[in-house]
Amino acid sequence: MRQKRTPAQEKILAALRECPEAVSAQYLHRYLHDRHENFGLATIYRALDRLKLQGMVQGLTLPNGETVYSARMHNIHHLTCLQCGTSFPLPECPLHGLGERLAGEFKFDIYYHTLEFFGLCDRCHAPESQAP
Ligand SMILES: [Zn+2]
Ligand SMILES: [Zn+2]
Repeated sequence: MRQKRTPAQEKILAALRECPEAVSAQYLHRYLHDRHENFGLATIYRALDRLKLQGMVQGLTLPNGETVYSARMHNIHHLTCLQCGTSFPLPECPLHGLGERLAGEFKFDIYYHTLEFFGLCDRCHAPESQAP
């Protein structure tokens, strides 16, 4: 979806690009306020939603349910332990060009992907749970 951005969207995108890591909408609200850019929280959420559709912003839901936003698109690959909640990032993308293939096949603009495997990590494997 290619669209002209509103001034509010431009400012919010610029602010997000200045943040070294993903931040919440509330954080952005405060950040812009400190720079004398007063946008309501609803405006910020609306702008973030539009920017997501344009592939300019990625929203990530944290394990605590909070959503944070980043102007950098991250492909995410990890193993997540259901017991301790630790996420182990994979050293490389195991998909090997699958995204490009799907994009062509389905005429789909792919912005990023996530791949998450769930189970128990080495530390959380209780010996009794491995009994036959
Ligand atoms: Zn674990
Ligand atoms: Zn990947």
